[in-house]
Amino acid sequence: MIQSVVLVKQVPDTTNITGNVMQEDGTVNRAKLPAVFNHEDRVALEVALQLKDRYGGSVTAMTMGPPRASDILRECLFMGADQAYLISDRKFAGADTLATSYVLSEVIKKIGPFDFVFTGRQAIDGDTAQVGPQTAEKLRVPQITYVEEIRSVADGKILVKRKVEGGYEVVQCKLPVLLTILKDAAEPRPFKAKRVMTFKGAKSLLDLEKLTDGNSLLSLVALVHEYTSRSLFIPTLTMDDLKLDPERCGVHGSPTKVYKVESVVLSGGDHRKIDPTKAGLGTLIDELMEDHILG
Ligand SMILES: Cc1cc2nc3c(=O)[nH]c(=O)nc-3n(C[C@H](O)[C@H](O)[C@H](O)COP(=O)(O)OP(=O)(O)OC[C@H]3O[C@@H](n4cnc5c(N)ncnc54)[C@H](O)[C@@H]3O)c2cc1C
Repeated sequence: MIQSVVLVKQVPDTTNITGNVMQEDGTVNRAKLPAVFNHEDRVALEVALQLKDRYGGSVTAMTMGPPRASDILRECLFMGADQAYLISDRKFAGADTLATSYVLSEVIKKIGPFDFVFTGRQAIDGDTAQVGPQTAEKLRVPQITYVEEIRSVADGKILVKRKVEGGYEVVQCKLPVLLTILKDAAEPRPFKAKRVMTFKGAKSLLDLEKLTDGNSLLSLVALVHEYTSRSLFIPTLTMDDLKLDPERCGVHGSPTKVYKVESVVLSGGDHRKIDPTKAGLGTLIDELMEDHILG
């Protein structure tokens, strides 16, 4: 029986960037973009579900994000996750990868023993690919990055195929382990209609707070009790629940400073014809080396 945790992130849909989304300072106005499930995290969830199909066990999804991140947790439940946790607190805002991995690793420790932690290789907004490896460090477990395929799990060990430059490696490792998953590792399964009907009303504490806001007839405690009894409550963890070190969370725990973000517009207008001769190619190579494109 395999216990897996999958880290999932809600990201702005950067495939739909149009003129009014870019701001003058070159940053993206996230409020104008739809929020979507980071694709590689959905693939990571699929890989975890396939392991559960093969070996049994349970799959727990979790995200650290704003209240609306519960949308992707419902999607995890639609796909087949057994539990989903929302980690949300204003004090977590502005977290860089160091602070993000601190919070995520503390939650993983809190919810109990695991065999696998799965992450996507990279989130499409921050793009650092650091959260997986940093979380493994903080959990003090080995990590295998760029995973393309899980070959087998037996005798407390896993055999995986991971991508390397120009080919692949087959790696064996003891459990527990953290794996970062590539987008081609699996095709995410469609939502199951029955699970959509069951979990479409699943709500986090913050969703329920919104329902009771300004409505004195609704009691939050009673709602949490009702949703929990119907298995529709998405456990929601705040800084106080987790008893974390405030100096390691959010802006306080984030040494990274982004000084400048530039909007780079690539133009396809410039082109030159190179003679298909030795001399023509030589000139091209010289120019590429001068521009530091070739080393
Ligand atoms: C323009 C810009 C530049 C930035 N530059 C930096 C920088 O240089 N250094 C830095 O430390 N931060 C930077 N950040 C902040 C960064 O977005 C956050 O640190 C973010 O919390 C995680 O980093 P990431 O998105 O790069 O995740 P990645 O490390 O790319 O994510 C890898 C995987 O980790 C998991 N994961 C990541 N975040 C979460 C989450 N919140 N909840 C659950 N699982 C998660 C997912 O499985 C994901 O696929 C930047 C943000 C922006 C918008």
